[in-house]
Order: sequence, then C-alpha cells, then structure tokens
Amino acid sequence: MSHRSADVVILGGGSGGYAAAIRSAELGRSVILVEENELGGTCLHQGCIPTKALLHSAEVADSARTASQFGIDVTFDGVDLEKVLSYQNTIVTRLHKGLQGLVDSYGITVVNGRGRLVGPNGVEVDDELITGGAVVLATGSSPKTLPGIGIGIGGRVVTSDQALVLPSVPKKAIILGGGVIGVEFASVWASFGASVTIVEAMPRLVPNEDETISKYLERAFRRRKITAKTGVRVTEVTQDADAVSVTLGSGDILDADVLLVAVGRGPNTASMGYEETGVMLDKGFVVTSDRLRTTVPNVFAVGDIVPGLQLAHRGFQQGIFVAEEIAGLRPDVIDETGIPRVTYSHPEVAAVGLTETAAREKFGENVETVTYDLAGNGKSQILKTSGAVKLVVAPTGVVVGVHMVGDRVGELIGEAQLLYNFEVDAAQAAKFVHAHPTQGEALGEALMAVAGKPLHVHG
Ligand code: NAD
Repeated sequence: MSHRSADVVILGGGSGGYAAAIRSAELGRSVILVEENELGGTCLHQGCIPTKALLHSAEVADSARTASQFGIDVTFDGVDLEKVLSYQNTIVTRLHKGLQGLVDSYGITVVNGRGRLVGPNGVEVDDELITGGAVVLATGSSPKTLPGIGIGIGGRVVTSDQALVLPSVPKKAIILGGGVIGVEFASVWASFGASVTIVEAMPRLVPNEDETISKYLERAFRRRKITAKTGVRVTEVTQDADAVSVTLGSGDILDADVLLVAVGRGPNTASMGYEETGVMLDKGFVVTSDRLRTTVPNVFAVGDIVPGLQLAHRGFQQGIFVAEEIAGLRPDVIDETGIPRVTYSHPEVAAVGLTETAAREKFGENVETVTYDLAGNGKSQILKTSGAVKLVVAPTGVVVGVHMVGDRVGELIGEAQLLYNFEVDAAQAAKFVHAHPTQGEALGEALMAVAGKPLHVHG
C-alpha cells in the first residue's frame, strides 16, 4: 500500500470540504482533499447552483407570460427544457472549472476516489493510505426517501437529483414535502406550466420558518394555483406506465406524471469507517463539540453531516472555522441562528434569527413584533409583488429575528443579518436612511414602526 501525508486531510470536496482546504492552504498548511465525484459537491452539481438556474429560467417564463401587465407585448410560446438544461449546465461547468483552477492555484492535492477513515489520522483511498495531522470529515448528504416508495423505479418517483434533469416538464406533479426543496420545485414547475400539488405533513408550508411567512407564502402560492395539502401524510404510492398515484391519510387519491420526494436530506456517514474509528454518530449525523471536533482527537466534521442547517454557506463557514481551529487561531464559535436562510421560490422567503415563537420561548411574552406589508412599499408595487417584512424584537429593543417574503427579498438578507448578528437596537437602526424606492425601505419602515414613528403605514 502506498502512502502520502499532508498537514490536513479532508474527506469530501463540497462546500465545507473545499472551504476547509482553501483556508488551510492560505494558512500555510499542506492539504490533500479526497473527492469521489466532482469538486464542488451537491451545491455546485445538484443543489444551489443548478436549481437557482432553473428558478431564473422560471422567473423569465413568468416575466414573458405577464409582460402585458407592464405594457410590453410578448408572445409566450412555452419552455424549451433542452435549452434550459443547457443554460443550467453552462453555469455549472464554468463554476466547476473556476473552482478546479482555484483549488489548484493553492497547491491543494486532489485525490479522486472514495475515502474511508481508518484511524485518527488516516484515510484509505483505493490502495493508498493518506495520513494527516488533522482529518476533516465533509462527506455531505443525500436525499432521504420513505419506506415503500420506490425511487427511480418506473421513473415517475424522483428525488431532487433526478428532478433537476427531467427531460420534459411534467403536466401534473405532486411534491411530497413543503420544505425548501419542495417549495422551490413547486415554484419552478408551476412557472413552466405544470399543475402542482404539495403534500406537507406539518400544518403549514416552510414549517421551520415564522408562521406569518408561511401564511403569506401559502396565499401567494394559492394565487399561482399551486395547491398545498398540509397536515397530511401519504399512505400509499403506486405507479404504472401512465401515472403515479398517491393516497393520502385523509383518504384523497391524487394522480400525477411525477412525484417528487423532498422530505429532507440524510447525512452520508455510512460505510465510511467513521463509527469503527470511534467517531460517534447520532441518527447518522456526526456528533461534534461547538468547535466542530468529533469524539476522535484531531478529527473534525463540517457541513451537512453535522446536525443543524444544511446550507452551503454554513458549510463554507464551518470549513473556514475548522481550518483556523487546526491552525491554532481559536476562531469565534459560529452562531447557527445568525446564518441566513433563503428560499428562492416566487415569492422568495428570507430569514435570519429567531421566529416569533422561538423568541417568546427564549425571552417571554414581552417580545415585540412588527409586520410591514409590501403593499406600502413603492418598489414592490412596481414589481407587482406582495409579501411582508416581519421584525422580532427582544424586550431589550434588540432585533432578534428578521423574516421576509416577496420577490427579491433574498437580496435584503445582508442588512437583516447585520441587524441580528451585531445585536442592533431597532430604534437605533431606524435612524438610517434607506434609498427610495427600494425594497430595503420595507425593512426601514418596519424598524421605524418598532421605534414608534412609522411613515408609510398608520401606526
Ligand atoms: P426540509 O427539511 O426543508 O423539508 C422537508 C419537509 O418534508 C418538511 O417540511 C417535513 O415536514 C416534510 N415531510 C417529512 N416527511 C414527510 C412525509 N412523510 N409526508 C409529507 N411531508 C413530509 O428538507 P428539503 O426541502 O428536502 O431540503 C433538504 C435540505 O436542503 C434542507 O436542509 C434545506 O435547507 C436544504 N436546501 C436549502 C435550499 C436553500 O437554501 N435555498 C434549497 C434546497 C435545499
């Protein structure tokens, strides 16, 4: 067996893994990065980037379809999915090449193969042993399935991996799960002309978000003729050459061309030597300290295998954190609540910090909230989007949650996350002028309302 070594060995080249690799290299460490597929992981190849390209095509389709409302004559002739996929592929390929060049420019050695942890400092790839002073586990996640539902069989039941590259737009689609993936695909397919029904077990869409936001989103989806069946589970799924049939706990039976199963993503931690080496798992996730150390000294974990938000930007941040921790820089522990969350549907959902319910649990009943409806925001009216900005304010006056819904509100998350992460006093922030007309003004109006001096809404 051949042997190589480096200061830092990283298993998995997705967002968390490659961020750890780049930051370690910046800090002067030698790095070996082991990746069995392609550098960039789920985010670049099956997640963030290709889905957002689809969502952009969907937005263009909506603009074309509704152009006459803005006085522009356009004939909308439908969606050429082959061209959509080619556009999507161009973006992914370009970013992938850029990432390969970047990693290469840092002198990071990429080993292509399936790695297995074989000891506190060692990873085995094929017949090579790779050892390091520290090992970072960054093996990511995969779509979860449900028992008794045959994914892939017959081609009508798919996960987001297959939904991303469907050769044609389904006429009718059922989506199991009204979380982030379910809502984004519902949005894309509805924009492409499909009739979509979402089945969500919890009482509302995006159940992890603030309840007010779910209400606005559900209303907007109803207007888009997207059906949401909430508080109900699937009891049986059957399929034949013509359709997939879904029986619900309520007794309803739904038919469609395609069923997308979007009930969460599970960690890729099985058969990788983790438990055998002493890395403790809990329900498949790697147990870590808040400094992302596993139960084995010098073995760290980042990204979707660590319990918490499964988001690429959390992976980046954790990768940077671990590289700095290994280098002895003692970085500040990451506050998970301060990580922004954006769902890129039409309309978008963007949030940071605590929901109203979570804030009341933490601070008691004196929590204050203000919801500013985008009906009073000029730019949102120009864009013909509806929605709201909701602020959650602790009894001390500090902003502890910002929740937004409406087209393009994802772009407002930068200001929102500064309010939360710098623990800004709402009345202080209300002094800052927002450019007119922007959607950012809605955030400013909500802050002014908290300060007791609302402008474009009667207090
Ligand atoms: P999710 O956890 O966001 O949503 C899954 C939903 O399925 C939940 O609302 C859950 O209640 C529901 N569900 C579970 N079992 C069910 C059942 N039997 N019947 C009906 N509903 C059921 O997970 P996801 O949407 O699959 O996304 C996976 C991960 O990927 C998430 O962590 C998400 O944050 C991440 N992601 C993020 C983005 C983004 O940031 N824009 C986009 C896509 C995915």
